Amino acid sequence: MSATTASPATADAATILEIDLGAVVDNWRTLSARVAPAVCAAVVKADAYGLGAAKVAPALAAAGCRIFFVALLDEALALRQFVPEAEIAVLGGLLPGTSHFFLDARLTPVLNDLGQVERWRRKGQGRPAILHIDTGMNRLGLAPADVPRVGDPGFPLRAVMSHLACAEEDTPMNEAQRRRFEAARALLPPAPASFANSSGIFLGPAYHYDLVRPGFALYGGNPTPGSPNPMRPVVRLLGRVLQLREAAAGETVGYGATHRLERPTRIATVAAGYADGLLRSLGNRGRALAGGTTVPFIGRISMDLITLDVTAAEPAAVEPGSLVELIGATNTVDDLAAQAGTIGYEILTSLGRRYHRIWRG
Ligand SMILES: *Cc1c(COP(=O)(O)O)cnc(C)c1O
Repeated sequence: MSATTASPATADAATILEIDLGAVVDNWRTLSARVAPAVCAAVVKADAYGLGAAKVAPALAAAGCRIFFVALLDEALALRQFVPEAEIAVLGGLLPGTSHFFLDARLTPVLNDLGQVERWRRKGQGRPAILHIDTGMNRLGLAPADVPRVGDPGFPLRAVMSHLACAEEDTPMNEAQRRRFEAARALLPPAPASFANSSGIFLGPAYHYDLVRPGFALYGGNPTPGSPNPMRPVVRLLGRVLQLREAAAGETVGYGATHRLERPTRIATVAAGYADGLLRSLGNRGRALAGGTTVPFIGRISMDLITLDVTAAEPAAVEPGSLVELIGATNTVDDLAAQAGTIGYEILTSLGRRYHRIWRG
């Protein structure tokens, strides 16, 4: 784009999503140091939790990350061009008729049932695969009862893995799953083990095994809810103020007239809405930072707009064209999630495509 063809998508016009790749890398290094000598993978499914796998994965690969997990074969095929050397594992499994894609793109299938094990035995040309044991999710993976039937799989086991249902809680379920995992491993040929997601890493060294699979914590989410976040924040979301208005006590704001003003109020209308991932449940509940002052969302979330009560903010700091912080160090992904009644994972993966995205570092 040349300077003479200014598009409406230029940074000056748009609401801005800043993604700090340096912080992602720092978070990966922090987790790597914590689990060493276990190896730290990076889960980059759902486009690196919405932050851009094409940017995140190469940054992590340059820092030394050697194995990436995605959910879908399509995600793996798209990722291959961005990390040509790294190992890419596909959590979703090995569906019929897809083996040649795995071979051509040098992908590691995560085998989730005996049929997939048999398929890779026939089609996998002796290349390694990961075996997933379901120890309590009842979602993906071999049922423990099927594990004795694996025998000698006929290909190298790159790893045996399982996934925790309640990693962010202190519950006996974690140890119960770990015991089932141990029992399954004892019935299989020796192989590296992988058990922990972000929160699982913080359950202690017994959960680290040989390979950990963090996602959320890499992206600045708190893997230890209820305790201070040990990770660096990654995302900053800045909303552009489009208009300011003074409204009188008794007037209402937005669709459904759900918010009635109790006093004369200065309202800032900001260019981000539910089409951009500001979940509708944030209506009358979200918070933002305007010129250093925390201000509340008032009224419902519109598709493209939110309305903030900026009466308490410094007037010079909130003018048409200025930016308010919707996500940042003081109003984190996890804070916004709490305001929306959801988890930070959903906030991250909902962030829309319409923002002007800036990757730093
Ligand atoms: C998504 C996922 C992860 C990463 O989980 P986080 O909580 O984001 O760290 C790890 N393992 C499996 C099987 C997953 O589906």
